[in-house]
Amino acid sequence: MNQRLETAIATATRASHLARGVRSAWIGEGPPEQQAPKKGAPEKRALDKQDRSPVTIADFAVQSLVSLDLERHLPGDVILGEESAGALRQEDHREVRDGVVSAVQEFHPEAGMEEVLRAIDRCSADAGDQGAFWALDPIDGTKGFLRGGQYAVALALIENGEVQLGVLGCPYLPLDPAEPNGRRGCVLAAQRGGGTRLYDLDGNLRGEVSVSSQEDPAGAVFCESVEAAHSAHDLHARIAGRLGVTAPPVRMDSQCKYAALARGEGSIYLRLPRKAGYEEKIWDHAAGAMVIEEAGGRVTDAHGRDLDFGAGKTLRHNIGIVASNGRFHQQIIEAVAAEADLPK
Ligand code: AMP
Ligand code: MG
Repeated sequence: MNQRLETAIATATRASHLARGVRSAWIGEGPPEQQAPKKGAPEKRALDKQDRSPVTIADFAVQSLVSLDLERHLPGDVILGEESAGALRQEDHREVRDGVVSAVQEFHPEAGMEEVLRAIDRCSADAGDQGAFWALDPIDGTKGFLRGGQYAVALALIENGEVQLGVLGCPYLPLDPAEPNGRRGCVLAAQRGGGTRLYDLDGNLRGEVSVSSQEDPAGAVFCESVEAAHSAHDLHARIAGRLGVTAPPVRMDSQCKYAALARGEGSIYLRLPRKAGYEEKIWDHAAGAMVIEEAGGRVTDAHGRDLDFGAGKTLRHNIGIVASNGRFHQQIIEAVAAEADLPK
């Protein structure tokens, strides 16, 4: 295994432990019906960003941890991360900042506060189609994280506009899909041309994964976001109806949808924009797309075009996302075209 892949898997695994530790101190890590706010858990769990989306101690701490890990093992590599430390430097956010620093210090005891914040702000590489950079979503699905649902640590290497490597840490996803209430937590790792592998959070390789062999869309299970604001559930339902899908949608937060599809749980993932003008962020899809493609599936936009990861921080040349096991992708694209009048 090459050093970048090895480092990415190791840091996503450490980050998964960090995130799991933060959340279990709040609400536990049991099945949703057993989760409850814990006594003595910090009141202040999240800040609101400028776009009014939440950001938690875990988002900041994971970005810092991954940044420090990559700096140590891959010193020449640059990172574009979703978060920045500006808000943490404000005095009224001290409680969150202290939480971030102590979470990072469990993994990097040598790092002081300034070092923890510097590591977050170091993740400001330029996106584009020249050269190589890591795209990091430290906690993808923050709303799911806060709600007790699925979330993912997503790390991808983008080289000259193409994803070459993608790793998803999925701390709350069942390790074995056949045992939904069994052990939770896994990492899926894919490198272009090398397949997709599943690891447990102790770092053990559990095997290669592949997408479902479902041939008939009518028998497919499709996934979509939990958050109705993130994609058009009503439109998805009409597309599914046109394909003859009868099973209800599986709603899941974060790029765990990609992880689930890569393991053959379901065979369609729809993410069609609710409002014209939304541009998907590259860190929300780069790792997931690689994990699905290397597991034998296909990922395009709503018009069937390849995702263009070289256009900047967003997929601005694409509209929406359609992922599938690859067996009837064109039929899905045709159903999308028949049901929706999306901008080109
Ligand atoms: P999910 O958990 O699949 O719903 O996706 C979470 C991601 O949705 C977050 O990381 C956000 O970057 C992204 N997001 C936020 N607002 C929107 C929106 N209006 N449409 C699509 N994605 C969004
Ligand atoms: Mg995200």
